[in-house]
Amino acid sequence: MRYADVIVDISLEKLDKTYQYAIPDALLAEAVAGAKVKVPFGGGGRMIEGYIIDTSETPVFDPARTKEIASVVQGAVSLERRFIALAYWMKEHFGGTMNEALKTVLPVKQAVREVKKRTLVPVADEARFTEYYNEAVERKFTARVRLLEELRGKSAADYREVLQKLRISAATVEAVCRDGIFAVQEETCYRNTATGVWSDKRPQLNEEQKAAVEAVWQDYKEGKRGTYLLFGVTGSGKTEVYLELIEHVIREGKQAIMLIPEISLTFQTVRRFYERFGERVSVLHSRLSAGERYDQYLRARNGEIDVMIGPRSALFTPFEQLGLIIIDEEQEGAYKSEGTPRYHARETAEYLASLTGASLLLGSATPSLEAYSRTESGQYRLLTLTKRAKAAQMPQVEIVDLREELRAGNRSIFSRKLKEQMKERLAKGEQVMLFLNRRGYAGTVSCRACGEGMKCPHCDISLTFHKGGTLLCHYCGYETKQPKLCPACGSKYIGLFGTGTQKVEEAVLREFPEVSVLRMDADTTKQKGGHDKIIKKFSKGEAQILIGTQMIVKGHDFPRVTLVGIIAADLSLYAGDYRAAERTFCLLAQAAGRAGRDRLPGEVVIQTYQPEHYSITAAAAGDYLAFYQQEMAYRRLLRYPPAAHILAVLVQAEEQETALLGAGRISAALSRMLFPEEKTGTVIGPAPAGLAKANDLYRYIIYIKSSDYERLRQFCRAAAEEKRLTEAAVKCNIQFDFNPFHGY
Ligand code: ADP
Ligand code: ZN
Ligand code: ZN
Repeated sequence: MRYADVIVDISLEKLDKTYQYAIPDALLAEAVAGAKVKVPFGGGGRMIEGYIIDTSETPVFDPARTKEIASVVQGAVSLERRFIALAYWMKEHFGGTMNEALKTVLPVKQAVREVKKRTLVPVADEARFTEYYNEAVERKFTARVRLLEELRGKSAADYREVLQKLRISAATVEAVCRDGIFAVQEETCYRNTATGVWSDKRPQLNEEQKAAVEAVWQDYKEGKRGTYLLFGVTGSGKTEVYLELIEHVIREGKQAIMLIPEISLTFQTVRRFYERFGERVSVLHSRLSAGERYDQYLRARNGEIDVMIGPRSALFTPFEQLGLIIIDEEQEGAYKSEGTPRYHARETAEYLASLTGASLLLGSATPSLEAYSRTESGQYRLLTLTKRAKAAQMPQVEIVDLREELRAGNRSIFSRKLKEQMKERLAKGEQVMLFLNRRGYAGTVSCRACGEGMKCPHCDISLTFHKGGTLLCHYCGYETKQPKLCPACGSKYIGLFGTGTQKVEEAVLREFPEVSVLRMDADTTKQKGGHDKIIKKFSKGEAQILIGTQMIVKGHDFPRVTLVGIIAADLSLYAGDYRAAERTFCLLAQAAGRAGRDRLPGEVVIQTYQPEHYSITAAAAGDYLAFYQQEMAYRRLLRYPPAAHILAVLVQAEEQETALLGAGRISAALSRMLFPEEKTGTVIGPAPAGLAKANDLYRYIIYIKSSDYERLRQFCRAAAEEKRLTEAAVKCNIQFDFNPFHGY
C-alpha cells in the first residue's frame, strides 16, 4: 500500500500539519506529489480539497483505520501544484525534508499583515539630482543635503527610518518631493512612477546581439524550449539581449524572471529595466521584509507585473504564464543556497522551466565549468558575443613576478612596475583601483617564536586583527583583545601577518601621501548604504584610488579608471577547495574588465607569486577557453564536478565523540553500499571539516563521489536512514550538500 501526506491549508504556519491518507490502487498513477486531491476530513466525512506533498510506503498509524483519498482533481495545473512539485524535486535532488523545501519555495504568508510602509523612491534622473544637490549645498539647506546624501544612488528608502536617522522633519522631505526629486509611496516600494509606457530609448542591436536574440526566439516561436548560454565579455551587451528577449516574451502575454547576484543588484542595473518596462517590473532584494516580499509575490500572482528581478529567491515568483528565466552571471556562488535544501538556482531553474514551458537563458563573461561543459555535450546551446558593445578596447594586462621583486630587494607590497604605473596615472589625474584578491579584511595573528595562531575557541578558525587591537571571529562574531604575550609560550613576538585592505591603504599613503584614498571592505561597508556611498564618491572623482576586495569588481562602470592593480593574485588560490582556480580566474577577469571601460585606454598589473599558474595566465590573456580546457582536465583527473558529482554529508554534534562516532557509522554504512565493481564511486572520510567546530558544534564531513547523480541520491537516502536508525547517529545533526560550492 502507498500512502500520501496531504496538506489542506497552504500557509506557512500550517505547512507542518499534514494528514496521511491511503492511495487506492486506481489512483496510484495520478496521486503524486503536487496533485490536488479530494479527501474525507473530520468525523462527518466532509469532503475537502488538499495537495499531496509527499508519498511513502510507511503508514504512521493503524493502516486499517487510515482513510483513502477520494479522488484526484483534474484540470489545469495550479500554481500551488507547480510549486509543490518543484519543492518535491528540490528535496529529492538536493536533500533535506519536504517541509524545508516547501518553506523555501512558497512565499511567506504572514498571519498578521504589516502596517503599510511609506517608501521614498527617486524620480529625478541623475543629472537633475546632482543639479538639485549642488543647489542645496550652495544655499546651505543642510537638512536637505543630508537627505539627498542619504538617498543618493538608492532605489528606495524607508520613510520613517530616514526621518529618524537623519533627524529631519517631514516638511523637509515634502519639499524635496514637491520639487520632483523623490516620491513617497504608500504601498510597497519599487513601483515606478513613470507612466508605464515602454520606452523607445534603446540601442540598435549589433549583429551578434541580434543573432543571440534570434536564436532563442526562433526556437520559442517553434514551440521549442531549451537552455542557452550567452557567453560574452563584460560590456558586450548581454543586458541588452536580456531586455530584448523579455520584451518579446511580454508581447506574447508571458512573464519573465531575471536573477542577478545581490551584489550586482545596483540602481543602475534596475533602472535599465524600469526605463524599458515601466511599472510592470518589480524587484526583490534582501532588504525587503517578509511582508514586503510577500506583497511582491502577490502582485506577480495578480498579474500586476511582468518582470521580477532579484537574487536566487526571485525564482519562486508565482507567475501564471512564465515564458523566460534569465540568470545573469550564472557562475556566481551566490546561486547556490547555503540553507537547506542547498539548491542551485541554475539546476532548479532548469527544472522550473520544464514544468512551466519556459526557456532558460544563462549569461556570463566567465561561464561556470558546469554550464560551458553542457554546451559541449549539446545540453545547452552556446551563443557568443565576442566584442564590447561600445568602442572601448580591452585593457592591456601585465603579470609581475613577486619573487623577482623580493630578489631585487623590493619589500614593498607594490612591485616597481605597479608603483611606476600608479605614479604616471595619478599625475594625469586618472583613477586607480587596487584589488585585494581575498575575502575578509585583515591579517591573522600568530606567534613567531612558537608558530601558534590565535583561533576562535568556538569555530577553530583564525581570528582576524582589527585596528585598535581587537581580534574577531568572522564566522561567529567572537571578539577578544589581542594578547601582549603568546598564550602558548609566553613570547612577546606575537604579531600580525598577511595583507589586508587596511595595510594596502597604509602602504598607499606612505608612497603617495598627497592622494585621496577610499577603501571598500567588510569594515567600511558595515553601515547600511555604505557600499553605495563609496561607489558614488569614487565615481564623482572624490578620490583617486579605490582599494577593495571582491566588492569593487562587480558591475560598476568607472570611466576614469585606467589602471587596475591586483596586489596578490594567488591569494584566492589558497582557499583549499576544488573551485579555487575557477574563482581566481573569474575574479581576475572581472577585475581586469574594470580598466579602460571608456575612451581612455586601460592597463592591468597582476602581481603574483605563481606567474605560471594557468588561472592567472589565462585571465591575463583574457582567454576563457584556455582556462576552461586546463581546469576541465584537472576536474576530470580528480573527478570533481562537473566531471563527476560529489555529495557532502556534514555531521554535527555538541560532543566531539558523538559527532565522530555518528559520522563513522554513516560512513561505514555508505561504504558497505558500494558495489564491488563500482569503480566510479568512492566514500571519503569522515574527516574533521575545514571548519572543525562552529557555534559550539563539532563538525565532521563525509564526501561521496560518483559519476551518477541518481546513485548519490541513493547514498543520501541511506545516510538519512542510518542517522534515523543507528543509536550512535541519532544525536547528530546531519546535512546534505550536492556538488558543494562553499567549503566546509
Ligand atoms: P553586459 O551586460 O554584457 O555587461 P551591457 O548590456 O550592460 O553589457 O552593455 C554595455 C554598454 O554598452 C551599456 O552602456 C549599453 O547601453 C551599451 N550597449 C549595449 N549594446 C549596445 C549596442 N548595440 N549599441 C550601442 N550601445 C550598446
Ligand atoms: Zn608562542
Ligand atoms: Zn567563532
